[in-house]
Amino acid sequence: MAICPVCSMRFGTGNYGNLAEHLIDMASEGDFLHISWINKNITKNKTGKENLALHLQNYYNFKENGLKMWIISDFIKQFRGESPTHLY
Ligand SMILES: [Zn+2]
Repeated sequence: MAICPVCSMRFGTGNYGNLAEHLIDMASEGDFLHISWINKNITKNKTGKENLALHLQNYYNFKENGLKMWIISDFIKQFRGESPTHLY
């Protein structure tokens, strides 16, 4: 199941297209939490639905297959304190 990491809205199993659409919709409405999650975890560049869905798929696959690596890289990101860029 694809779940929005920000607001926990649920989408069908592996339905990253709908999740991507949701994230883009929320971001274009100026929802700061959704924007900063995308910026921090996926990309700082404005992206289309298909491209974002692909990124999300890779992100979740990586998270499942390499949880330890993900925790480390997430920790490093937080430690470095990258501030989100408002691009949407
Ligand atoms: Zn959401």
